[in-house]
Formats: sequence, C-alpha cells, structure tokens
Amino acid sequence: MVCAYCGKEAKGTKEHIVSSAILDLFPECYITFDETRNRIHESDPMVKDVCAECNNKRISYIDSYAKDFIARYFIQTYSENDEVEIEYDYVMIQKMLLKYAYNDMRSHKEDCSFFDEEIKQFLMNSNDTFPKTNITILCGIVVNVSPIPDAMFGNLKLRWGKNPFFYSNSTIRNVNYETGQITLNDDIEKQSFPDLEISYVFRFNSVQFLLLCWDKKSNKIGQNRTVLQYQYPYYLMNENETKAVLPICTDELNYHRFDHIHVRWDGLFEVGLMRKYANGGNYEYKELYERAWKEEEKKIKDEHPR
Ligand SMILES: [Zn+2]
Repeated sequence: MVCAYCGKEAKGTKEHIVSSAILDLFPECYITFDETRNRIHESDPMVKDVCAECNNKRISYIDSYAKDFIARYFIQTYSENDEVEIEYDYVMIQKMLLKYAYNDMRSHKEDCSFFDEEIKQFLMNSNDTFPKTNITILCGIVVNVSPIPDAMFGNLKLRWGKNPFFYSNSTIRNVNYETGQITLNDDIEKQSFPDLEISYVFRFNSVQFLLLCWDKKSNKIGQNRTVLQYQYPYYLMNENETKAVLPICTDELNYHRFDHIHVRWDGLFEVGLMRKYANGGNYEYKELYERAWKEEEKKIKDEHPR
C-alpha cells in the first residue's frame, strides 16, 4: 500500500476519518450511519491507507488540537440565550477540517487531486503555521430551536458530509403576521461559487463548520468569501483573529437537516420564533422528553464504553 500522506510503500494502519479522540467524547454515539453506502454498523468510520509513522507521529498533533478544542467548547449544548465566545487557532482549524475531508474522500475512493504535495506537507508539518489562502472556514453554534426533540431522529451529534446545499435566498417568501400563514419560496436556487473545488459540512455536537476549498489559482476567492460572510448566519474564521463570539447557525428545519445551509435572512428564523411564542414561549413537552433522554443517554454511555 502507498501511504496517503508520505507516499511511501508501507503497511496500512487504521486511521479514523474523524479523530478517535473526538469520538471518545461522545461514547453514546456508538452507531455509525453510513448514508452513502446505506449501511449501519457499530465500528468507527475509518480508512486504512496511512503508514504507522504518519498516523502516529506526523499527523496526530492535529487530533490533539481538535480534541481539546471540541472538548473545551462543544460538549455542552447551548440555548438561544447563550453567548458563546471561543478562542481558536486558525491554522489548526484549517488542518483539522482538511484532514477529515481528505480521510472521508479517500474512504469513498473519490478524486483527491486537490490534496497535492503542498496540502499534504501542510498537514504533516506541525511547524507550518502559514494559513492557506484558498481554504475558507465558517462556523456557528448549533441550537435545537425546533419543537422536535433531538433523539427523535437518532443520536446524531457527530455528522459530516460533502457538498452541503447553500441556498441563494430564503426558503420562505412571505409570512402573514395577522394569520400566521406562511408562503414558501418555490423557485429557490442553489448558490454557486466560482472555482469551488471541495465543500464539506461538519457537525460536532453544538458546533457546525463549513469548509470550502478553492482552486489555488482562482481570483474569485475574495468575492466568494464576501458572499459567504454576508449571506449565511456563520462566523467567517480568519487569520487575523483568535477570538470570536459565534452566531447561531440553525433554524428549526436545518437543525435536523444539517447539510441545508439557509441564508441569514431566512424566514424560518422568524417562523420558529412565532411558533415558540404561540406556544407560550417554551416547549414544555420537548423539555420533558429531553430530560428523560439525558437519563437514557447515561445508560447508553455505560453500556458502550470506549
Ligand atoms: Zn506515511
């Protein structure tokens, strides 16, 4: 086997697609739902084409950072009223998401030519702290603002997928505030981004990341970043900042359908608020259900130690 990182002939070792250390934080999520292969299994998602040297020495520093970062801010769940301020290392976040996307694409035997020598060296070299200008990352806080409890769709705290759907406009055309009637936008289009080569969405419990990889030679990156920054309810991570207060990026629909990236002005945000106020300001039964589910989760954690 040729190692996916160093290119040397070697025996393949198992490499987790998303770091095992992150999976360890959520032992209750012990089932893998592999939608692309239409399979459900109890083992971790992995690839087996990395040599022991790269796996254990050269790229493992990325997982250490990722675990600390996720554990520090995103094990807990948040409500609409929480202010979530994070401190981050932009280069390490770039490396973390690039590594996971690369692992995932190899596991699906996709064309990985984007991950050329330059990107691989960037990942393998812990001393390379120069951010890649053709990689854009946004992030936001995930809050279940819907009336539906989490567990109804399964224990889906860790999710990732290629090609999220970026909306070009609101999913709702009109809200009648007198009657509460909602008219959907039926000719909504997908936002296109020139020179986009790869896009991914990652959810780690209470945070969601969007990764966009552009053609290195593109002169449209600045324009694309501006669209992303103003069109979506996410924080655009960048090399000049180390701290940020993260916005909530979910509405009552895409909390559950995580790969639908709605625009910042989507009417669903308001519809969710209207629904909640009409309900007296809280979802009593959802809260009851979720408290009971937390107890259930403790049992699942004990039954499935990692
Ligand atoms: Zn190697």
